[in-house]
Amino acid sequence: MKIGCPTEIKPQEFRVGMTPNAAQEAVARGHEVIIQAGAGKGAGFEDADYVAAGAAIIDTAEEIFATADMIVKVKEPQAVERKMLREGQLLFTYLHLAPDPDQTHDLLESGCTAIAYETVTDDRGGLPLLAPMSEVAGRLAPQVGAYTLQKANGGRGVLMGGVPGVGPAKVIVIGGGVVGTHAAKIAAGMGADVTILDRSIPRLRYLDDVFGGTFKNQYSTAGATAELVRDADMVIGAVLIPGAAAPKLVSRAQLSEMKPGAVLVDVAIDQGGCFETSKATTHADPIYEVDGVMHYCVANMPGAVARTSTIALGNATMPFMLSLANKGWKQACADDKHLLNGLNVHAGKLTYAAVGEALGLDH
Ligand code: NAD
Repeated sequence: MKIGCPTEIKPQEFRVGMTPNAAQEAVARGHEVIIQAGAGKGAGFEDADYVAAGAAIIDTAEEIFATADMIVKVKEPQAVERKMLREGQLLFTYLHLAPDPDQTHDLLESGCTAIAYETVTDDRGGLPLLAPMSEVAGRLAPQVGAYTLQKANGGRGVLMGGVPGVGPAKVIVIGGGVVGTHAAKIAAGMGADVTILDRSIPRLRYLDDVFGGTFKNQYSTAGATAELVRDADMVIGAVLIPGAAAPKLVSRAQLSEMKPGAVLVDVAIDQGGCFETSKATTHADPIYEVDGVMHYCVANMPGAVARTSTIALGNATMPFMLSLANKGWKQACADDKHLLNGLNVHAGKLTYAAVGEALGLDH
């Protein structure tokens, strides 16, 4: 199969769909890999790295879309890319179609077969191609929060780990899933005093069993949250209610009770945010202040560490990408119900019920 990887063109996107290692694995299985010139640059991969892996470098996205059997990307295809998709072509990338009727319309019209990273599943009920980005965002949250806590950035001027004779920062993590667990691990590793809140008792049991000595956990009620937030130096929002907007768990009124210069990091901002005062920000201008409390609400946090994110995503997508290339999408999906769950569009039809329901389209 001819596998094509164009340069990402969405603003602020520095990741790339295939690493040189992934390209090498595909070439080793007899596939032809074509990479757009400069596609890996934002993630620290040179064209020469891809050439050494056995891939060919192609100047333009047009040539890649015109000749590849499968397009491997990171972000949903932008309008100009959607025009280049062809009937029967396979697209493997993040799509997030439910809130995006324009993209859905264009994919249906193109006649392509589109498999969305975010709906591929695993045996434990998880989302294996979303999890790596949650791991990245979770681990990044205390890092950006610690920077925001510094005086010059508007914060309280508190050091995460304290020093001998001076106590550490108090960090509250709301939501103990993938993001929250990774955030708590890193914050605790920096020496902070960390408490994680969750609504799921099985999840709290797991956190207690595995991390009981590293950070505390508490059942998430409005009362418990209010009490902990009042005393916190940093609050990390990491809740998810699948298919729904994030619940607002800290109100504007609560900010006035918080310590001046405390920091809110709202990782759940891509689902609308879990603090009432959250609004999405960008890497170029990530921090703002409301009522003396600093907010960091970047919706695509993994982009800040494009190299780590690209490699983590590539590790997770590679087995599926190879299966699609080796067997063709039909056989690959027939053999793997989890990959089949990723199928969102085929030959002008929506094949993913939740997207059809969200957009009121036949599926
Ligand atoms: P997850 O499903 O693994 O975890 C969510 C957790 O929230 C679950 O354990 C659930 O029990 C808990 N929860 C739900 N309601 C709660 C409540 N009221 N109080 C406390 N806990 C509650 O999800 P995840 O992968 O950790 O993702 C968390 C959020 O981070 C999602 O909104 C996701 O889209 C977002 N995210 C954002 C970025 C970014 O760049 N900003 C990157 C990756 C993920």
